[in-house]
Amino acid sequence: MSKETFNVDKEKNFSEWFNRIIREAQLIDDRYNVKGFIVHRPWSMTMLKQIYRIYEDALERRGHKPVLFPTVIPEDNLYKEEEHVEGFRAEVFWITHGGDDRLDKRLALRPTSETAFYPMYALWIRSISDLPLKLYQSCSVFRYETKATKPLIRGREFLWIEAHDVFATEEDAYRQVEEDMEVAEEVIHKRLGVPFIFFERPQWDKFKGAVKTFAADCLMPDGRVLQIASTHYLGQNFSKAFEIMYLDSDGKRKHVYQTCYGPGIWRILAAVISIHGDNNGLVLPFEIAPVQVVVVPIPTKETKDVVEEYSRTVVDMLRSAGLRVEADFSDKTPGAKYYYWEMMGVPEVGPREVEGKYVTLFRRDTRKRVKAPLEKIVETVKKLGDEILENLRRRAEKFMNSMVFRAESMEEVRRLSEKGGFIIVPFCSIGYDGEECGLRLKRELGLEVRGVPLKNRVKPPEDARCIVCGRKAGEYVYLGKAY
Ligand SMILES: [Zn+2]
Repeated sequence: MSKETFNVDKEKNFSEWFNRIIREAQLIDDRYNVKGFIVHRPWSMTMLKQIYRIYEDALERRGHKPVLFPTVIPEDNLYKEEEHVEGFRAEVFWITHGGDDRLDKRLALRPTSETAFYPMYALWIRSISDLPLKLYQSCSVFRYETKATKPLIRGREFLWIEAHDVFATEEDAYRQVEEDMEVAEEVIHKRLGVPFIFFERPQWDKFKGAVKTFAADCLMPDGRVLQIASTHYLGQNFSKAFEIMYLDSDGKRKHVYQTCYGPGIWRILAAVISIHGDNNGLVLPFEIAPVQVVVVPIPTKETKDVVEEYSRTVVDMLRSAGLRVEADFSDKTPGAKYYYWEMMGVPEVGPREVEGKYVTLFRRDTRKRVKAPLEKIVETVKKLGDEILENLRRRAEKFMNSMVFRAESMEEVRRLSEKGGFIIVPFCSIGYDGEECGLRLKRELGLEVRGVPLKNRVKPPEDARCIVCGRKAGEYVYLGKAY
């Protein structure tokens, strides 16, 4: 660590804060010599693994099973669903050679895996008893991004989960879309403390090949919007392209209905880091912190042995309770130790009093000290872990709610757009007939139509007009500046 203190004003300069924290807390290294590809160091990889674990567990509890498909997709597969390939064509990395030989058929590095999964689904699904089929994989995907890349937010290789589900009926498929949103609520909001709004995206902004796209947006500290998960109702678009059919109980062969779901594990970590962090560095939800407790002995020359021994006792007690614990026995000054562990986002720090048989705990989120008797250390730490998450979640909700505005005219939108956040406006339509208005907002104000919220959806009154074209407003939509 080059500097003793982190100390960057997150509110004033979020971009600098983010760029420095990912480097100085040794989360990732973006000096790898291929643009848009980064190295994940232990501190971020440990958290990513925790987030994967929580997400995979939530999916498997709801009937999903894990699989792993090849990284490469033959060109023919990719071209089977017309709209889909149009959407991804410009972003595909191609493998053209094996050694010195030019390949007969190019292979794509998966930009997403619909066209890898679905030919196999056509082989596996035979009858109604094969449905529903709910499979997922945890993997990285590759996209030739031409926009500026940013670690954990936009990369040419990034980490996610993709679930591909198959049903006999449209109703079952839509129920899956609801379940996908429920899982996001459980994992991202409840367990990681990041609030978001789920939107139905406008038709012109849907996943290519889908009938409808639903996506979760959170707000970053600079007021910009970050999509962290999306789920898509695919209808029969892919089942017709890939001939995925089942024999129904009435003796007829029918095309299946499908959904796919993409929680952006990378971006979820970016949101956790950005939204909960403070000017001293990382502040992490207890459940995913790589080190949940660090014990910092603060001995004098005379008490070094006895304080260190006491510290080891504390470490053992916490470790045997299943917590991730470290002790800092280095020769650094207590101040330097605190600065370092604060920046790394370790929620709590150190024992002090040997004689009184208690421990002083330092809470990373509120930066307050509490005392706990040694025999109650495990339950106190666990309780504090829950309280930290609760506090982080409430703080994040308060911020997001304070950043939702309303406007009734372009002029008002223009004025509000400088603050960032969501702006709710009356708008003609999220169907293709609203696309021109959407494009104008993007062109003139840099704002995107994020869509219609799925909770508390309110229809505008009869006389409400679209702020862009003046036609009758069919919806209240949310606008935002996106990452
Ligand atoms: Zn309009």
